[in-house]
Amino acid sequence: MKLLTASVALNLFEALIKKSQQLRNVLPHCCLLCDQQTADYREHLCIVCRADLPFPMHLCLGCAIPLTKQQPWCGQCQTNPPTHKLITCANYATPLKQLITSLKYKDNQLVADELARHLARRVRLLIATDLLSKPHYLIAVPLHPKRLRQRGYNQAQLIAQGLSRDLDIELLDGVERVINTPTQTSLDAAARMRNLRGAFTLNTTLPAGTIALIDDVFTTGSTMQELAATITRQHPRQIQFWSVAHTTIE
Ligand SMILES: [Zn+2]
Ligand SMILES: [Zn+2]
Repeated sequence: MKLLTASVALNLFEALIKKSQQLRNVLPHCCLLCDQQTADYREHLCIVCRADLPFPMHLCLGCAIPLTKQQPWCGQCQTNPPTHKLITCANYATPLKQLITSLKYKDNQLVADELARHLARRVRLLIATDLLSKPHYLIAVPLHPKRLRQRGYNQAQLIAQGLSRDLDIELLDGVERVINTPTQTSLDAAARMRNLRGAFTLNTTLPAGTIALIDDVFTTGSTMQELAATITRQHPRQIQFWSVAHTTIE
């Protein structure tokens, strides 16, 4: 009798779980920016806020300054071609800044998919116009294990997972951050580069092919430059820098 009661309770519990999952999949979410209901359960932004996301059509693939027409480089980058193409959506400003802050500091991990979707749109546009070749692999800029423990997740990894699904590109592991650099916001590019020397290590042999490095915000580029140098030291290859937003320091 006891056994029968337990089995009925278990079945009831499983049915409840299933029902709640079904419900979750038909109920809309609230918009991450304005709290209005979204049209569909897969959406994390309402139509108005999504349309409001900054999306300049033409950005230099070297320094990300806006251009008036679609061309790979601005005049300055044409003269001094950068070693890696930089693909980014827009400046680190509201509302992108609000979304990235929510992802990094408010444990709002759902935002990663929304940001990935935004960046994937830009990547697709560049590939369609022959300004970018589709990379073979993605690698997220790793966090130091201590920082990872504090936050509980790596925001760049979550964005990279979204990009991997969206663009059908394999996401690789095997890169570690072995030096926990202090926050670098007050340092110039040269000081950042010095601090980052030897910050990454590879614990596997990466397959041959083009790699796009993924981060949430691109500032001076010193982090991605150091990671790219670590990877190409193992095997020379083409590397692209992908970051949802970019900012510059004086
Ligand atoms: Zn909204
Ligand atoms: Zn440029």
